[in-house]
Amino acid sequence: MADLRDYTSLRVGGPAKKFVEVGTEPEIIAAIEAAGDSPILIIGGGTNILVADSGFEGTVIRIVNHSLQAEVDACSGATLTIGAGENWDEFVAFMIEKGFAGLESMSGIPGSVGAAPIQNIGAYGHEISEVVARVRCWDRKESAYKTFSNSECEFSYRSSIFKRSNGRYVVLEVTFQLRQGEMSLPITYSELANYLNVKLGERVLITELRKAVLVLRAAKGMLLDEKDSNSWSAGSFFINPILDAKDAEKLPSSAPRWPQEDGRVKTSAAWLMENSGVKKGESHNGAGISSKHVLALVNTGSASADDILELARRARKAVEDKFGILLEVEVALVGLNL
Ligand SMILES: Cc1cc2nc3c(=O)[nH]c(=O)nc-3n(C[C@H](O)[C@H](O)[C@H](O)COP(=O)(O)OP(=O)(O)OC[C@H]3O[C@@H](n4cnc5c(N)ncnc54)[C@H](O)[C@@H]3O)c2cc1C
Repeated sequence: MADLRDYTSLRVGGPAKKFVEVGTEPEIIAAIEAAGDSPILIIGGGTNILVADSGFEGTVIRIVNHSLQAEVDACSGATLTIGAGENWDEFVAFMIEKGFAGLESMSGIPGSVGAAPIQNIGAYGHEISEVVARVRCWDRKESAYKTFSNSECEFSYRSSIFKRSNGRYVVLEVTFQLRQGEMSLPITYSELANYLNVKLGERVLITELRKAVLVLRAAKGMLLDEKDSNSWSAGSFFINPILDAKDAEKLPSSAPRWPQEDGRVKTSAAWLMENSGVKKGESHNGAGISSKHVLALVNTGSASADDILELARRARKAVEDKFGILLEVEVALVGLNL
């Protein structure tokens, strides 16, 4: 019997009733159809899930299909179709090595290509919604293939139609439209611009940008590292809240404010936590707040899923008591409620 703690970066989670690893598209579909009406849980790298200690009473399908098809045109760039089971960062590194731009600021994000559109992964000012052309899925409701164009993916900040459809669509492959070239997308993130000693809006070599992002991520424990328990997390546990303008005005002047196109204002979940008394490095039972990044809840070595959940509740309550803002969880909770 597979213990899900062995398949998640938080290293918690009980047994799966049934566990299959599927390496081809027909195998993925056969495994889904074989499960019938019983619950299924699709996983890739397990880097964005918190699974209950009681495990999963259904079939866990771990997608490991590998494939890459490329059409390259000197004028329009490259259209690349990648299997869901490919490792995201290996794909990014490979694209940069081959001279394709657009993914560089998302270097070092753990997990699979197939999970990337689910929460529209992003980092250092860019998101995959900027480079996704289409996403091909298996529609579990209709038992049929379905391809989503970029606009049909309904991408938004850390969300998409896939995330909102509660597992209806299983991503089989993702097609990216990338530009051929040495220069990065414009740098829109102050910390990255400062590190590279350039102004916001400037571009640098994609190879240089990747190196910088990896250094910054390592300093925050945001690269998976067997030896660094600060990285035994699911990344940021909460998403940055987006507030109505009048609610944002009530925040102290030192709170970060990022105006959104719709007039609302995004603020920093990390700032809210730190200013509500949540401290880097604090721990409760086996769960802790990373000593490098307040937004990452970590397994200090012996945590249960309940320990992680309890710590998340404390952090969320601290922010709610201080600022009246209820933080929303980024991580997919399996068999658990906050
Ligand atoms: C150290 C660390 C740093 C991180 N930094 C970032 C960051 O900077 N930016 C960011 O956006 N995220 C970040 N994350 C979160 C995580 O890396 C991403 O969400 C990643 O896309 C998850 O990929 P995965 O394959 O591990 O997904 P899993 O954890 O295996 O699954 C996540 C969710 O997607 C679903 N899913 C997985 N594969 C498929 C599929 N093929 N079809 C349908 N549903 C699927 C699962 O059912 C689950 O709901 C970080 C995580 C860690 C541990």
